[in-house]
Amino acid sequence: MPNQPRLLKTFLDLIEIDSPSGKEEKVSKFIEQKFKELKIKFKRDQVGNLIAKIPGKGEPLLLSSHMDTVDPCFGIKAEIKGDIIKSKGETILGADDKAGISEILEALTVLKEKKLNHRPLEIIFTREEETGIIGASKLNKKDIKAKEGLVLDGENIGEITIASPFIYQINIKIKGRSAHAGMEPEKGISAIKVASDAISELEVGRIDNETTNNIGILQSGKIRNGVPEDALIKAEARSHDLKKAKEQVNLYQKAFEKAAKKHKAKLDFKAELNCHGYKYDQKDKFIQKIAQGFEDLNIKPSYVKIGGASDVNAFVKLGIKAVDISYGGKNCHTTRESIRISYMMKITEFLIKFLQS
Ligand SMILES: [Zn+2]
Repeated sequence: MPNQPRLLKTFLDLIEIDSPSGKEEKVSKFIEQKFKELKIKFKRDQVGNLIAKIPGKGEPLLLSSHMDTVDPCFGIKAEIKGDIIKSKGETILGADDKAGISEILEALTVLKEKKLNHRPLEIIFTREEETGIIGASKLNKKDIKAKEGLVLDGENIGEITIASPFIYQINIKIKGRSAHAGMEPEKGISAIKVASDAISELEVGRIDNETTNNIGILQSGKIRNGVPEDALIKAEARSHDLKKAKEQVNLYQKAFEKAAKKHKAKLDFKAELNCHGYKYDQKDKFIQKIAQGFEDLNIKPSYVKIGGASDVNAFVKLGIKAVDISYGGKNCHTTRESIRISYMMKITEFLIKFLQS
C-alpha cells in the first residue's frame, strides 16, 4: 500500500514549486533529490527532460509525466477539505501533471522499501508538454529501450486513452497587389477577397466523428483605403485517421489554389504533420492489462478517444506503445482544478501492482 501522508506531502511540496512551461528547473531539482534518496540513477538530456533507469526483470516499461503547468500557476496554495484538494481559487492546482509525478515517485518508493521485484523501469519526466509537447518531441530514441509505456496525464479515474488525432498545421500566404482603393482599385488584387473566396468553399469545424478542421488566424490589411496586398492564414486539420487529415489538407490546398488563380494572386501553401496520432484496439493485450489492473482495484475502466494530443503522441512516434492513463484529477487547466486524495492513492496502488507484473 502507498503511504498516504508521504504521497500527500510529495504532492503538496510539488504544487508549491512554480513551474510554468520552460521553467521546470526547480521541479526537476526536487525530483532529482528524491531519486538520490532512492539511489536511482538519473540524467538530464540535452533539453532538460529528466530520465531515470531502474534495473529489474522482464521487459522494460516506460513511465512518464510532464513537469510543467499551465497559467495561472504562480504561488499555488492548496486547500484540503476532506478527501478533496483544490487551489484557493486564484490559480490552477497543478495536479496536471504533478499528481502523476507524485504517484510515480510514491510507487517507486514502495517498490524500494518493500524490496519488490519489478520490470526494468525507465522514468521520463518531460518539459514543456503544455506548450506543444516540446520536451518529449526532442527525446533521443537511444535513451529509451522500453516498447511499452504508461503516461499519467489523463483526468478521470479509470480513463484509458485509446486514440488521439493526427494534426496537420497549415500556413498559407497570399500575395496580391496593393492599389489605392478609390482611385485605381482595378490595379489591385485584394488578398482578403482571395482568402474569403477560398474559405467560402471550405467546410470548417467538425467534418465527421473523427475529423475536424479550423482556421484560427486570418491576418490582412493595414489601411481602410488601400487594396490589401498580403494575407496570412493559419489553419489546422486533425483526424484520428491519417488519410482523412490529409484529405482536409488537400481540400484547403485546392480551394486556395483555385481562388489565387482566379484573382491572379500568388500563393505560398505549406502543410506539416505536426502531431503523430494513434489508435489502439480496445482488445489490445497491453490495453486490456491496464484495464484489468483498474478492475482489480474496483475502478471501472473507460476508453476514450481525445481530440487533443499529449506526450504520448511523441512516444508513439518513437515506436513505443505508450498509453495515457488518468492521474485522477478533475477540471485541469482551470482555477476549479481538483483531485481526490483517495484517487491518488488508488492510482499509486495500481502502479505498484502494474510495475511488478
Ligand atoms: Zn497534462
